[in-house]
Amino acid sequence: MLPKIFQDAIPLLKKIEQAGYQAFFVGGSVRDYLLGRPINDVDIATSAFPDEIKSIFPRTADIGIEHGTILVIEKKNEYEITTFRTESGYGDFRRPDRVKFIRSLEADLMRRDFTMNSMAMDADGVIYDPFDGRDDIKQKLIRTVGEPAERFSEDALRMLRGVRFVSQLGFELETGTRKALTAYSNLLSHIAIERKTIEFEKTLSGDYRDKALEILIESALYKQLPGLSEESEAIRKIAGLPLVKKLSTDQMWLLLTAGMDIDPSVFLKMWRLPSKVIKERNKEKDILSRRIKEGWTRELLFRSGLERAVNVEKVYNCIHSLNSSTESLQEKYKALPIKDRKELKVTGNDLMNWSEKAGGPWVKETLEGIEKAILNEEIPNDHDTIRRWLETCNPSEKN
Ligand code: ATP
Ligand code: MG
Repeated sequence: MLPKIFQDAIPLLKKIEQAGYQAFFVGGSVRDYLLGRPINDVDIATSAFPDEIKSIFPRTADIGIEHGTILVIEKKNEYEITTFRTESGYGDFRRPDRVKFIRSLEADLMRRDFTMNSMAMDADGVIYDPFDGRDDIKQKLIRTVGEPAERFSEDALRMLRGVRFVSQLGFELETGTRKALTAYSNLLSHIAIERKTIEFEKTLSGDYRDKALEILIESALYKQLPGLSEESEAIRKIAGLPLVKKLSTDQMWLLLTAGMDIDPSVFLKMWRLPSKVIKERNKEKDILSRRIKEGWTRELLFRSGLERAVNVEKVYNCIHSLNSSTESLQEKYKALPIKDRKELKVTGNDLMNWSEKAGGPWVKETLEGIEKAILNEEIPNDHDTIRRWLETCNPSEKN
């Protein structure tokens, strides 16, 4: 029996067939099914033209109609249904200038990047595999459909996709494909950063990321990646860290900025990551530097918060090849007398009332001094005690 994700979509394939057209599952879902890997989403390819698909299904959206893709909504599920097409005129080494809708499955499969991604499966589970993708999967080989030189010149992103499949699957690049990767690596310069970022993030988080990072260097593809052109040594070092596979994508970005000793707001901006993400990596990088210098003081743990501290500690452990858990850090955090400024039994208003002084930077400094004293158990978190303590010493000066 086919996995549920296919079962759910079979009625759509049948509907298209009943209307007199062909429809198949294609691409990543068929590959992952044959590999026994989890299937993210199913893409459907069809001989029906976009307008014909729209007349078959009542609920649709034109999400990429110029490339032949219609979004179909059925039983609350969304499916991308794309008309068979050929592509031509890759004048700029990236997007085709022209797409032509066609009725032939095989011609559609031929435009796809690698043999393992160029298989189709019909509603009965019959596989169409004109380029022997199954054989390559068996041999764990990533091979372009047709001449690699030609395919990489048409769309240079395919080279980076090849590397990310190495990272995800641990396959080897077939010899010709691998040679072309090195020969044509310069062409990656024509590719939009956003497209590179998508593939690079997948590369960073794959089970075989060490292998993939090595290939990025050997092939010189790394020279075409934002902020990495001078960093072969740092990348190689990261690839060689025994614990590198334990890190999440976010942690990998932090590891990269730490390994290259670069400001995250400079480096991650080059990759056009969202500003919220950049801010977070910035905070983590600061905490990591303090953690390296002074260890986990109670104050540092308090200021970073548990989640951030654990992230930083995992990266620290990876850098130092320490196979230790973050449990003791969690214990230490649990034992903190306060976890948040809101828990303080005095407020900025209290401070201003008691001293009869106007607000200003001193309020924040004093509150920080109080926090520090409480965290280090010099005083309990108690309103009156804090007041008496303030009267006998000035924590903002004491700092
Ligand atoms: P994932 O599981 O990560 O989604 P995928 O193989 O499905 O991997 P997609 O980017 O979703 O990757 O693309 C779907 C299919 O479209 C691919 O399997 C491949 O057949 C084809 N494809 C995608 N990008 C390219 C490209 N740059 N050149 C040629 N074919 C491509
Ligand atoms: Mg996909």
